[in-house]
Amino acid sequence: MDRGSRSLLHRLLSRLMAPGRGEVRAMQDALHLEGVLRFVGLFVGTVVLPALMLGWIGIRSIRTEQLDVQGEARRASEAAARTFTEALDRELSTFELGVVNRLESGRSTLDSPKELHPDLVVGLRFDRDLRLEAPFAVEDGARRTRGGPLDMLAWRSVDTFARSGGEPSEAAARFAEAAGHLALPEERARASFDRARMLARAGRGAQAEALLAELAAEDGQRRDPWGFRLGDLVALERAELVLARDSAQGAQALLRLVEGLLADRWTVGFGGEGAVARRALSLAEPHLEPDQVSAARGRIARRSAMLYWAELLLPELDPATAWADAEGVRPGVVRWRTGARALWATTRWEDSLYAFAFDLDSLTSRLKADARAVVAADAPITAFLVAPSEGEPADVVERRTLAPYLPGWSVALALRDADALRADQRWRRALRFGVVALSVGMIALGFMTSVRLIGRELDVARMKADFAASVSHELRSPITQIRLKGESLLLGLADTDEEREQAYHSIVRESERLSRLVDNVLDFAAIERGAKRYALRPGDLGESVRRALVSMESSLEFKDMTLEVVLPDDLPAVHHDADAVGQCVINLVGNAAKYSADGETIRLVARAAEGELHGRHQPVIEVAVIDNGIGIAPHDLRQIFEPFYRSRDSLARRRKGTGIGLTITKYIMEAHGGDILVTSKPGKGSTFTLRFPLTPPPDDEGGSRTSPRTRPPRSHLGA
Ligand code: ADP
Repeated sequence: MDRGSRSLLHRLLSRLMAPGRGEVRAMQDALHLEGVLRFVGLFVGTVVLPALMLGWIGIRSIRTEQLDVQGEARRASEAAARTFTEALDRELSTFELGVVNRLESGRSTLDSPKELHPDLVVGLRFDRDLRLEAPFAVEDGARRTRGGPLDMLAWRSVDTFARSGGEPSEAAARFAEAAGHLALPEERARASFDRARMLARAGRGAQAEALLAELAAEDGQRRDPWGFRLGDLVALERAELVLARDSAQGAQALLRLVEGLLADRWTVGFGGEGAVARRALSLAEPHLEPDQVSAARGRIARRSAMLYWAELLLPELDPATAWADAEGVRPGVVRWRTGARALWATTRWEDSLYAFAFDLDSLTSRLKADARAVVAADAPITAFLVAPSEGEPADVVERRTLAPYLPGWSVALALRDADALRADQRWRRALRFGVVALSVGMIALGFMTSVRLIGRELDVARMKADFAASVSHELRSPITQIRLKGESLLLGLADTDEEREQAYHSIVRESERLSRLVDNVLDFAAIERGAKRYALRPGDLGESVRRALVSMESSLEFKDMTLEVVLPDDLPAVHHDADAVGQCVINLVGNAAKYSADGETIRLVARAAEGELHGRHQPVIEVAVIDNGIGIAPHDLRQIFEPFYRSRDSLARRRKGTGIGLTITKYIMEAHGGDILVTSKPGKGSTFTLRFPLTPPPDDEGGSRTSPRTRPPRSHLGA
């Protein structure tokens, strides 16, 4: 028992000497407050602190979760998508700006498209009537049909003859004859041209010239079955003739031919212009500056490439739609559309529509590489370009459309190893769940423990309060009786001898009761302080019991009870403290009387026996007190030896008591190296048996025990 508790008991006991009801109440309140304070401490320790701790761990775990890989992936994705789209915006808005600048400054937007953008393959201009204006032309009407194989067969055999070194004038004659067999004018014109060539080879220059002039005048714009414009072929042949006479003049004529071709619109669907220009340049090359040649060759190549793309992409460019699109917007504002092979940028300027085609394959494969490049190598994500026809890829974290530049396209950022990430997440979730479950479990456990403990604390507090109330009552009633009877004797109020004798008996009885109570309370206080000593001396136990019983006589008699005592004279001597043993007997017989009806018989039987005591089979002396009283419920049996414990049973409650008699008795028995047993049946009665060992307790020196073998049972809050 700690000092605070002990001093509380002291105060309690000292106040009991003058126990005003208010003071007892105050004491109860103090006990209650103490209980509440302890409960608060317990609650904070077992519920609030673990809850806070686990809450903290939970919040930390959630915060770490936010910093986890997926959060990282999301942030990385957003950043990468932003970088990518910003770069694309910059790139294509630069293109738009370049186009508008050129339109405003009057520079050609159609030549050298690569200068505007590396993926730009062709630029076209249409007029209001949706006709292709520059730099190409589309031949109106149906495409010219080629000659039948038979007709062309006639021409072919002559051509083979000429190529395999056949005599030129002979070849010229044969071409003239073949022309007669050919059905279509372009075929005939071609045969005439070949005839002129052969005449020139044969040295009949004047004749050739005349024929060529005639052809240029009549069929200059006509194309031969291979798509060559006869005018171009004639010009080439003439320049070649000049070259044969005068190389410098001829080279200049050829160069002029090339320049003329480049300045002119080429016709989509034929492309003979490119071949003629290349042939002219290769003939003139030996007589020209290398720079001149390479510049011209570059221009021819670019124009040819553009022509190739124009032919390829024309079917997917619908100028009508593009016009309609562009109509509503300010001139110079670019509209973007995606076709099968090209990304189209169209804009309006004055009366023309400009259409620029980007090679979609080249553009998107470069963008794909760019998309990959915007993601760090160690990032948990990958980036890719998604075409309009492609579905949503799996595990996309971030997706951004590439409008307006690439309508329908988007850049998607997806988890690199989604399975591993999901497994990781599952594990984290399980862990968090575990932590939460653990915290809930711990809190619930703490709460249950707290509730149980507070229940017990309250029980003890209530028992102590009951104790204080009982003691004050138990003290008051004998004192009142003694005083009353004493005063009536003193004042001569008892008239008859019988009345006087009754008064004397009453005074004796009440004194005995008072002394029993005071003995118990003082002993209990001493026991709790650890200050109780017993003088164990060998002696006649029966005698000690007998002496104790004497002090009970008048109480028993008053209740009209019979005490049957069986005390053999030959009981062996036992080391004992006669007063303490007397107190035990008085407590047990007192209880037997208290918890039995008036007029009942109580038996006290002492005997030598053998029994298991402290784990050792040994001879013992048993003193049993047997009653036929109210008995004790099994659940009470376990607790009746605890300090202040009183049965809640209503029958027991009707009897006044303090709840310390059995505690003291048990303590005394343990101090004697013995014990106390109880058997009881509710409604039938109880038997309390004190058992003393015959051999003295081992640590008994000189018959004085300063400390018990076992500590007295303590109250939970301390007294
Ligand atoms: P009290 O002053 O209440 O009698 P005790 O410590 O002597 O205190 O007894 C504790 C409780 O044990 C009693 O309140 C009563 O309920 C029960 N008890 C003790 N002796 C008997 C008995 N002989 N018959 C029935 N109940 C008993």
